[in-house]
Amino acid sequence: MDTQVWLSLGSNLGDRKGQLQFAVAELAAHPQIRLGRKSGIYQTAPWGNVQEQDDFYNAVAEIFTTLTPWELLKELQKIEAAAGRRRIVHWGARELDIDILLFGEAHIATGELQVPHPYIQDRLFVLQPLSEIAGDMDIPDKGNLQLIINNLQGQQRVEKICDAEDW
Ligand code: ATP
Ligand code: CA
Ligand code: CA
Repeated sequence: MDTQVWLSLGSNLGDRKGQLQFAVAELAAHPQIRLGRKSGIYQTAPWGNVQEQDDFYNAVAEIFTTLTPWELLKELQKIEAAAGRRRIVHWGARELDIDILLFGEAHIATGELQVPHPYIQDRLFVLQPLSEIAGDMDIPDKGNLQLIINNLQGQQRVEKICDAEDW
């Protein structure tokens, strides 16, 4: 059975748009992943501020997969590595970051994987593109998407720079 999964995609090093395009192409090419909707691209201020770094390009993609959450995480890490990502600094600059936001109705709380994503409710750069393609929804454990967005509005710099059709 295919599970509906929401992914966040981010890049703030090198060809940011190219790396997001690479990520969706790799997802679409995987035999156990079907690509659904994708959001536009949003330019956003870096999160965590561990070092001077460029703005992020962020987007959200919907996929359907027969993989387990742990198998999917491994596939995402392979795609990140193929985009040239080397893990150096947590929250540091990176070519490509793909996180699992929601995996069907799954609740996962292990060291390796936490779903829903533990910071989803704090990040306008994830919530805004998610609401663009998912519409309003209740996020398991977190609350109503539109209400959370309303509460965060104005606190983080998130600017849409291109539509879904343009990348
Ligand atoms: P953040 O999680 O705050 O967005 P990050 O994406 O920069 O930070 P990474 O260095 O990419 O963090 O990943 C650290 C670890 O997070 C991964 O090795 C992975 O095991 C774990 N992880 C836990 N939950 C998730 C999730 N829902 N999606 C992706 N990785 C996750
Ligand atoms: Ca992340
Ligand atoms: Ca990550």
